[in-house]
Amino acid sequence: MKKGLLIVVSAPSGCGKGTILRQILKDEKYYYSVSATTRKPREGEIDGVHYCFLSHEQFENLITENAFLEHASYCGNYYGTLRKPIEENLANGHHVILEIEVNGAMQIRKLCPEAKFIFIAPPSLEAVKKRLEHRGTESPEVINQRLQQAEEELNCKNQYDYCIINDVLQEAIADFKSVIRAEELKIQNA
Ligand code: 5GP
Repeated sequence: MKKGLLIVVSAPSGCGKGTILRQILKDEKYYYSVSATTRKPREGEIDGVHYCFLSHEQFENLITENAFLEHASYCGNYYGTLRKPIEENLANGHHVILEIEVNGAMQIRKLCPEAKFIFIAPPSLEAVKKRLEHRGTESPEVINQRLQQAEEELNCKNQYDYCIINDVLQEAIADFKSVIRAEELKIQNA
């Protein structure tokens, strides 16, 4: 069986990457890696579906057990990718999507140089601010923290293989599909 592609997607908070990925994941050839986090669930978020929500202690135990492929701190919480489901799904031919922040992505770059790195950028920082305010899931303080973080993350986009600007949603989705198709057709992946 041909192995799937490991696809790492990063985007500053409020770039609409969730909306893009929801469309992409309708295709069963993809497997979305559910991360573990110590962040509290937002309204509507389900344990085991959106994240595995863990206590600090549980998370740190898993670090000690080497259960994470990568992990990082982001705005005061731990986030990490569990190793086992990734390996299993790649082996059975799924394209595995890791939706992770920049530091975690750079850890994967070192560990898995064959992975593909996609950065989703907003048309502007002003657009990020509007989306975060409109989403209304974070306090003004956290929104400011995330905006600062977004600015820093935008400076890292040159470390990725592809940059997709999410201005018009349908175009961003089409761009994402084109990138994956081109990767599938590469001689070394065919
Ligand atoms: P949020 O709290 O908005 O769900 O996620 C905050 C940030 O953490 C986002 O940039 C998201 O992509 C990132 N993130 C989610 N899961 C992981 C993970 O497993 N590892 C790392 N390094 N970042 C993650």
